[in-house]
Amino acid sequence: MSPRPTVAPEQRPSGHTENIPNVEPSGVKTPIHVRNVIIADDDDLIRKMLARWLTRAGYNVREATNGTEALRIVREQPPDIVITDWEMPGVEGPQLCHEIRQLPLPHYVYLLILTSRNDPKWVVEGLESGADDFLSKPIREAELVARLRAAARILEGERKLQQLARTDALTGLLSQRSFYDILCYEFQRARRTNRPLSCAMLDLDFFKRINDVYGHPVGDVVLKVTADTLLRSCRHSDVAARYGGEEFCVLLPEISEAQALKWAERFREMLRATEIVAGDKKLTVTCSVGVSGLYEDTLTPEQLLDQADQALLCAKRTGRDRVVTYQTVNQNVEFDLDESHRRHDLFEGILAEHVMTPIVAPLQGDETVEHVAAYFLRSRISSAPVVNENGQLIGIVSEKDLMEAITSSEGWNRPISELMRPHVITYPADTPVRVIYEFLCRVAMRRVIITDQGVPVGIVSRASLLRWFRNLVLSERARAKGQQLAADNTAEDIIQDALNQIGRERDKMAQKLVEKPPDLCAHLVGAASRIQEIAVDILAFASAVQNPLGEQFGCGASSVVD
Ligand code: GH3
Ligand code: MG
Ligand code: MG
Ligand code: MG
Repeated sequence: MSPRPTVAPEQRPSGHTENIPNVEPSGVKTPIHVRNVIIADDDDLIRKMLARWLTRAGYNVREATNGTEALRIVREQPPDIVITDWEMPGVEGPQLCHEIRQLPLPHYVYLLILTSRNDPKWVVEGLESGADDFLSKPIREAELVARLRAAARILEGERKLQQLARTDALTGLLSQRSFYDILCYEFQRARRTNRPLSCAMLDLDFFKRINDVYGHPVGDVVLKVTADTLLRSCRHSDVAARYGGEEFCVLLPEISEAQALKWAERFREMLRATEIVAGDKKLTVTCSVGVSGLYEDTLTPEQLLDQADQALLCAKRTGRDRVVTYQTVNQNVEFDLDESHRRHDLFEGILAEHVMTPIVAPLQGDETVEHVAAYFLRSRISSAPVVNENGQLIGIVSEKDLMEAITSSEGWNRPISELMRPHVITYPADTPVRVIYEFLCRVAMRRVIITDQGVPVGIVSRASLLRWFRNLVLSERARAKGQQLAADNTAEDIIQDALNQIGRERDKMAQKLVEKPPDLCAHLVGAASRIQEIAVDILAFASAVQNPLGEQFGCGASSVVD
């Protein structure tokens, strides 16, 4: 099996995966209903009476005879509203409110305390404990129902806002980020309860052509129709998200991989049979799907995603308009690759460490946005790994993250550990480049970090791969021309050009040394990184030309890395 990207446990913020995300794990088309209520009261008579009133008003009521029982129910099946008596044996009303507020719940739970204490100091204590409202006994049916309607208005407003913030504007599906939160939650739940969980990744086939032929607005309609079709084929508990441009992801709780395959086949058929009407144009689309269930060695939510992603890649490589399961990929079945992918032995023997750009200076988590922005600008890099005091990778920060921080005045002074993204895809240095190439082809991410026992040592970006490939082509050309470096003008030109570039960088560095600007270090790092890249190119090129049959770029690049 090929190595998979991993997210090291220490890179996750503590407690992250145990926290239930603050979202409704349902499709966003679902109307919001506030109707699940827990009544906690040790007085049977009162409890039954309240339950009768609320059932009559259309609520689903669960009863608890004490605070501990109420807390257990809240934990297991979070309600919308909890109505609690103040005085109960064991956990009392205010303490119950306090403990509920500590729980990581998927949505806000409205808390209403009932009591015969009507002194204002008790009202204050009740509200301070986390309650939202306070109702004095004796309770009147009409008033209680009216208070719950008010609670429902608040909850619905809050959830609508949450939905808006968590959904993709074009399709109305969940965004990648919210999807990830739910994935973490469902993953933990499935592991804890030993229940199945599957994930399907789907990508429209030749979607670029649709944009090219019919225009972007028609492309948007296709995306919208795909999303609608997806929602129609999902159950309430399924979670559908727009994962990237024309890529969607569906989480199928309680569903095995074999069942997920059936679901995906049905969806694929449904989509290809859908006639999409956009203005006066009528068209159809197909999609490729990869599905994966949980395997014994699926240790993290990211792995589940990656498994589905590998299956999707396989579906694309073997002809599109099909569903492939991870089991098929995992069995190492030899696929009939289509013509365009036969060149893959191109990567034979080349490892990540041969292609990566070595990391010159990782950032420390306590450095400020201001400092890092200046560093990015001077060294002309757009992202950098962040490490802790032991040099261990804890995240990645990019220009985009900084941009979000610069609009607020305090943002400028914030430590980057607060805005870095902790989910970094990492690969060990000895990972075959083919694996990373396929990963970067598939995902929206532009780069992965290469680590050695948690310490970031390099970056493989799309640019690194392109540069590597350009070198390969250049050296192949040089070899074809008789492998004579001296006699080969093209090769000479290339080397000369590289040397000139290095000269220019050297001059700039020397000038900065004289000028001594406050950000001297950033200038030097930037120039050094550029020189390093050029040197990697020369070494790769020269070694290929000198040693036409030997390994080419690998040796060149790694000698610099070493
Ligand atoms: P393949 O079968 O290999 O997936 O081919 P493809 O053309 O679908 O592949 P690719 O992933 O390269 O193309 C995705 C295209 O999706 C590129 C981009 O222009 C387009 N796209 C991404 N987001 C949007 C969007 O919001 N609206 C529209 N109309 N197009 C988008
Ligand atoms: Mg009581
Ligand atoms: Mg596509
Ligand atoms: Mg795509």
